[in-house]
Amino acid sequence: MDKIKFVYAFTEGDGKNKKLLGGKGANLCEMTQIGLNVPPGFTITTEACLGYLDAGHRPPAGLMQEVHQHMAQLEKVTGKGFGDVNNPLLVSVRSGSAISMPGMMDTILNLGLNSETLQGIIDQTGDERFAYDAYRRFVQLFGKVALGMPDELFDDPFDAIKKREGAKEDIALTAENLREITGLFLDAVHGHTGKPFPHDPIEQLEIAIQAVFNSWMGKRAVDYRREFNITPKMANGTAVNVCTMVFGNRGFDSATGVGFTRNPATGENIMFGEYLVNAQGEDVVAGIRTPKPIARMGEEMPSLYQQLGELRDKLESHYREVQDFEFTIERGQLYCLQTRNGKMNAHAMVRTSVEMTESGLIDKEEALLRIDPEVLQQMLFPQLDPNHQATPLAQGLSASPGAVCGRAVFDADRAEQMGKSGELVILVREETKPEDIHGFFASQGILTSRGGKTSHAAVVARGMGKPCVSGAEGIHVDTHARKATIGETVIKEGELLTIDGTSGNIYLGVVPTVEAEFPSDLKTLLSWADKMSRLKVMANADSPQDAIRALSYGAQGIGLCRTERMFNASDRLPIVLAMIVADTLEQRQDALDKLLPIQRKDFYDLFEVMSPHPVTIRLLDPPIHEFLPSEPQLISEIEHLRQLSSTTRGVDILADTIKLLSPSDVEGIPKINSLVDARTVDAAIEKKEAILKKLRSLHEVNPMLGHRGVRLGITFPEIYTMQIRAILEASAECTKNGIENHPEIMVPQVCTAEELKSVSKLVRSIQQQVEADIGRKLIFKFGSMLEVVRACMRADKLAEEADFFSFGTNDLTQATFSFSREDAENKFLPMYNEVKILRDNPFEVLDTNGVGKLMELAIKWGREVNPDMKIGICGEHGGHPASISFCHHIGLSYVSCSAPRVPIARLAAAHAALKESPAELEKSAK
Ligand code: PEP
Ligand code: MG
Repeated sequence: MDKIKFVYAFTEGDGKNKKLLGGKGANLCEMTQIGLNVPPGFTITTEACLGYLDAGHRPPAGLMQEVHQHMAQLEKVTGKGFGDVNNPLLVSVRSGSAISMPGMMDTILNLGLNSETLQGIIDQTGDERFAYDAYRRFVQLFGKVALGMPDELFDDPFDAIKKREGAKEDIALTAENLREITGLFLDAVHGHTGKPFPHDPIEQLEIAIQAVFNSWMGKRAVDYRREFNITPKMANGTAVNVCTMVFGNRGFDSATGVGFTRNPATGENIMFGEYLVNAQGEDVVAGIRTPKPIARMGEEMPSLYQQLGELRDKLESHYREVQDFEFTIERGQLYCLQTRNGKMNAHAMVRTSVEMTESGLIDKEEALLRIDPEVLQQMLFPQLDPNHQATPLAQGLSASPGAVCGRAVFDADRAEQMGKSGELVILVREETKPEDIHGFFASQGILTSRGGKTSHAAVVARGMGKPCVSGAEGIHVDTHARKATIGETVIKEGELLTIDGTSGNIYLGVVPTVEAEFPSDLKTLLSWADKMSRLKVMANADSPQDAIRALSYGAQGIGLCRTERMFNASDRLPIVLAMIVADTLEQRQDALDKLLPIQRKDFYDLFEVMSPHPVTIRLLDPPIHEFLPSEPQLISEIEHLRQLSSTTRGVDILADTIKLLSPSDVEGIPKINSLVDARTVDAAIEKKEAILKKLRSLHEVNPMLGHRGVRLGITFPEIYTMQIRAILEASAECTKNGIENHPEIMVPQVCTAEELKSVSKLVRSIQQQVEADIGRKLIFKFGSMLEVVRACMRADKLAEEADFFSFGTNDLTQATFSFSREDAENKFLPMYNEVKILRDNPFEVLDTNGVGKLMELAIKWGREVNPDMKIGICGEHGGHPASISFCHHIGLSYVSCSAPRVPIARLAAAHAALKESPAELEKSAK
């Protein structure tokens, strides 16, 4: 058997094999092989990492020999020697898994330094300050990452010396200061580990490689993978990249920076990034010094700026995606150290994808597939109300757009705690670090006082689509005292703040926000999506306003209008109450006669707004007691009214008595009894008592399984009659007025074909009457919801009566699991998800194994009877991307979801169709 190869030089590794070499390693290989100036190095595979972890944290046989051989090769290529006192080779050791997990694992720089090679660097560069700076960075990173030492053991002595020397920035420290600091760091290592700092570069390298392997199972990395659902299939183990060090801190002809080939916040097609002269990469990323915008380089280092522009063009035309790259300039020589697909917010992702398609760099399919449907949610972010009058308290950098308000918290744990209790929080930090990640998850927005637009806080917030203001230097954050000061203003923990990641402004208190617009790039992208999709996307909407919004988001019709929501408006609730409380058919009919024109107008307006798209109207569904107040409320109201009745009588008596007391002054006696009169109060009591009596008579132990839906329609046919007539008359009136309309009458909670037949009969008889009145045929569809298990089992029979089916997966999930949809989500479901009894919340993510099976059966049986049957879904799952993909595969005709999810559903529907294409199937099979 061939020996497994664990190490690949950048010149030989397969740049497409991210699974084996990690994203960073594969890119280093690819960049090297397409001729970019990458410092020489090699990649240790993810297989080696897994082998190491599997063997109880022991390097797999042969790994270290291969590493040694590659180091020898590196020495040859660079002409330097690892541990060579005269011409020392220094390397960086970096992690990198198949899926980018920014900042989640560890990196060690300047490895190979010790007291002897240090002297070599000093002799070679003649720059003692540079050499000590490199050494102290190495000891610090090695101590932290490889030896597990806490930050403070390094930060405290470092800050103490900076303070003593009055140095504001690290750059102000002298060689002597750095030498002293290095000594303190070496002592700290000795003190912490009980052993001197490892001197032998080979030993340093072996320890460092193992530390990077270990970081794969570190808490940060594990949390990150869990949060972003990164499964072992997507990324398993980290690769380790060993790369020759190049130095951006070799003087004023050296620099380091990070760049994006396009602006990651707006998508604008100009290079974006930041750099620092005479600095090392970590200074930029960690936000230790505030860097300069990349455009400044055009003035400061014009020829290098031009080279950087060329590098950017090569990266984009090769990778055909926006790249996030790191570069270093060492004494006038530009090196590209890393590139990866840039993490962008949704706005930028959509804009760059559309622009790259329009410029011919990618095709429409690629543009669509590279955007995760769920991220479109970000585009509907609120912005500050343009009419607000608030004055900003401070300004920072606009690191991630969107405006948000929340309570200030000063550490990630507290953010998590408050977030869990339902508070909206803003995490306020001097700068953030990867270990703050749980605080990001719990926060609405992030505010930092240090760091640029590519600092950790900015990058992570952007990736998550959360608003972020970074580098707000006017703020002094005191984490221990849990407060921040801005000039005279003190912000304590829990105080409300508003941050605007679009402008960088920070406000005290709540500033009103407004909904975001729907940008034209997104419209373009989604118009491409619609052309690729097989599923239509409809909206659940109950009012013309909702319908207009849904249309503006691209809905192709209304898949569910819940008519009960129309009954709740204040102008009709009294009539609905009268209908419910009615004791006789005449009384009920009287109320329904009043409701008819109102409902007719409701439907007319909807048809008009949605014309020429279909509008699916569901006949009344909930148990009618839902329109009545609760029993305790009624009892308390009656009690108050009784007290008022007695008071009113007392007031009447008082008024009469005053006349007796001063008969000569009757005119001047105030009309104290004019405000409420006893008869009105008595009438109110009577009404409330009637409602209470009705409420008690309607009481059910399990109302959701009780007298509702079609059962209501069959027992009170006059209610459905009114609704059906309103729909058909509205349709007739629209047609008369030249408005094309396509009503679909939908019956809820059906479980037997007989129920559907009974409503169908009603519909046909009203149809005949309306047609006779207007002298014309009506065109509409009649269908059934499938939301109880029996309906699915009898789909063939129902299909004989119905033109269409719509799966009500909210109720169908409830019915399939026998989980109350009202209670499960805040009782046992969170625990079920936590202990993995259920992987997802089935009310959010369609349970394809159970509910999905029922759907498949119903579709099969329904279409055996009626092959062209239109079948859709209108439960919440209709807006969930994975569920939409399932709906596509089982052959649904449409999905219907709430208006804000329509864009997500349109893209998800296109993804489902595109992923079925032979090219994509081949890709996923690989
Ligand atoms: C359903 O049950 O999925 C449905 C859409 O109806 P509702 O949520 O109104 O019960
Ligand atoms: Mg339902």
